[in-house]
Amino acid sequence: MSDSYAVDLPDEAATLRLGQQLATVSGLIFLRGELGAGKTTFVRGYLRALGYEGAVKSPTYTLIEPYDLNNRILLHLDIYRLGDPSELEHIGVIDELEQGNTLLVEWPERAHGLLGKPDLDIALYYQDDARRAELTPATSELASKLAQVISEINYSNK
Ligand code: ADP
Ligand code: MG
Repeated sequence: MSDSYAVDLPDEAATLRLGQQLATVSGLIFLRGELGAGKTTFVRGYLRALGYEGAVKSPTYTLIEPYDLNNRILLHLDIYRLGDPSELEHIGVIDELEQGNTLLVEWPERAHGLLGKPDLDIALYYQDDARRAELTPATSELASKLAQVISEINYSNK
């Protein structure tokens, strides 16, 4: 499965909403895109949908921030400053993944493939002052969910 779904995100609220709408997606989620593309904003929307109301900042220095919400363990990673991919094992990330916990990973390319293939790959791009997302699901089940979410978004954007 490598079909991608594209969606325009006209403002910050749209990025938050996309995160909210995809909060039922679990597993390994990659968030790619330049600095300021909206990766953390997406995570904020995702966590809010699960009832988290506190601040969400990129864990740039700690690399990982754990959340325990709605009987789900979620780990928000920003591995921009990861030295060597093997550090991921030392900070317990591989174990968490094997236990079926959800990982939302900013700068996944820094893992050099050590995390494996994501269940959902999200690439965020600048489009003038707005953003655009390209979503690539690993399974056909997730593909139908994305198709549904995106048609709702495009409908409400009209
Ligand atoms: P990243 O984690 O990718 O570095 P952040 O989410 O921390 O990016 O920051 C993104 C910035 O862009 C924030 O200032 C946010 O308000 C803004 N932003 C997020 N989504 C959009 C959007 N769709 N259109 C315009 N601005 C956005
Ligand atoms: Mg960030």
